[in-house]
Amino acid sequence: MENQIALQLLQDLSVPGRRATAFPPEELAEAGTSSQIPDEHRADHTLSLPELSEGDIVRHYVSLSQRNMSVDTHFYPLGSCTMKYNPKRHERWAGMNGFINAHPYAEAGDIQGLLAVLYEMQEMLGEIAGLPSVSLHPAAGAQGEFAAILTASAYFASKGEDRKTVVFPASAHGTNPASAAMAGYKCVQLKPSSTGLVNLDDLKQHLSEEVAVFMITNPNTIGLFEKDIQKISEMLHDVGGLVYIDGANMNAILGKTRPGDFGGDMMHYNVHKTFTGPHGAGGPGSGPIAVRDFLGDYLPGPIVTRETDAHGKTVYKMSKPPKSVGQLRSFIGNIGILLRGYFYIRTLGGVGLREVSEHAVLNANYLLSQLKDVLDVPNGDRCMHEFVASAASLKKKGVTAMDIAKRLLDYGFHAPTVYFPLVIPEAMMMEPTETESKLTLDRFADTIKNILAEDPETLRAAPHTTPVTRPDEVKAAREPVLSYCPCPTPFEVEAPTGVKESVPSYI
Ligand SMILES: *Cc1c(COP(=O)(O)O)cnc(C)c1O
Repeated sequence: MENQIALQLLQDLSVPGRRATAFPPEELAEAGTSSQIPDEHRADHTLSLPELSEGDIVRHYVSLSQRNMSVDTHFYPLGSCTMKYNPKRHERWAGMNGFINAHPYAEAGDIQGLLAVLYEMQEMLGEIAGLPSVSLHPAAGAQGEFAAILTASAYFASKGEDRKTVVFPASAHGTNPASAAMAGYKCVQLKPSSTGLVNLDDLKQHLSEEVAVFMITNPNTIGLFEKDIQKISEMLHDVGGLVYIDGANMNAILGKTRPGDFGGDMMHYNVHKTFTGPHGAGGPGSGPIAVRDFLGDYLPGPIVTRETDAHGKTVYKMSKPPKSVGQLRSFIGNIGILLRGYFYIRTLGGVGLREVSEHAVLNANYLLSQLKDVLDVPNGDRCMHEFVASAASLKKKGVTAMDIAKRLLDYGFHAPTVYFPLVIPEAMMMEPTETESKLTLDRFADTIKNILAEDPETLRAAPHTTPVTRPDEVKAAREPVLSYCPCPTPFEVEAPTGVKESVPSYI
């Protein structure tokens, strides 16, 4: 098949007079035909709308949707983002009437079932974290970080402390410093270490009573467990600071250990990563936070509380914690994703969650063992749920991590995360997750080996079989296209200039 399929818009497919629906003439007469619409409500021009049959429209959208990759169609080893299989029955359950038809402004008394589920979710997340006070409110991981830093800030303010800095290691996810800076803190990044773990000497240098929070991902983004985490926590607590655990990817430690047990004071979850909310292209997310008791009064809200009424009946309420930093998102949070996470946890139970982590870690280590002879893995023979290989040594052949990532698409694999974390040059960060079979991992590892044996020219021009081939990123950055844009004030976009001629100019 021709790989550069001409991209057609519905307008291009339009055939005058073609329709997707036929209205019975008597209904039209009842509803009033266009000639009965008063003149003042009529535009002085006709709209040029595409004229199509239902089949035309369905084929158009379905074929567009198939030009992309998804967890349902391809293996997706995207490190840090944890792209897990999304069980389909969770979609069905999250779509039950009582959930999807609840009005956002419903009184608590009318949505007791939904509140009971959310209350249980708070309790379960508190238990998994080892941090009992939970707010389901934040809409994504990054907002969870921001919410927790605001919570810490309110706590310090209540003690009359004016702390100024937030410290994080060099391998931190970019959202960590962004959240701290948005909350008004000065960001201090530690120097990288040769082990890939937190540089303790450098941390010591930066600790003082100025430090509000140390943000740390554990296992870290290189896929290593920070074995000194307890000591790190003590160091922070000695200067009165708090330890924030970036729990975006809890996949390696569910039911094995808990942030609250190894010294964390606050954390966020990414329900859409760890607990299978379908995500991609930036959403939808859910980033609940769990904190120690003494921080619970400051949490953003509303949160769900449980009480017993005068008749001994359990009632659930939505309430704002007494010294809450306020509301950061509408209503109670991103309920659709919270429900999917709830069903995932309830389906697996404590034992099942622990098995998830065991399989995730086993799969990552198996893949690492298959690849470490062909790709450098700078920090170790063993990993947790993910590992970071480096394509740096291939540079002398003129091959980059980007070339391998693009070529994988030709073989039907989504690319791993590349160029993150920044501490590893030509990084390729891989996280297979727990549901992939040995067969898939073997196919993936063999494909990487085949790719590395290919002619560098082939790799540099890849992908060759996708609907859109390699964009010329350098040229695109220099020459933004404006011509496709019908807006009165054109805005600049980076053009996929590698796209061949058959694609019309409006792309
Ligand atoms: C994904 C991720 C985040 C941010 O989460 P979002 O839901 O994308 O805002 C933060 N930290 C780490 C380690 C992550 O992997």
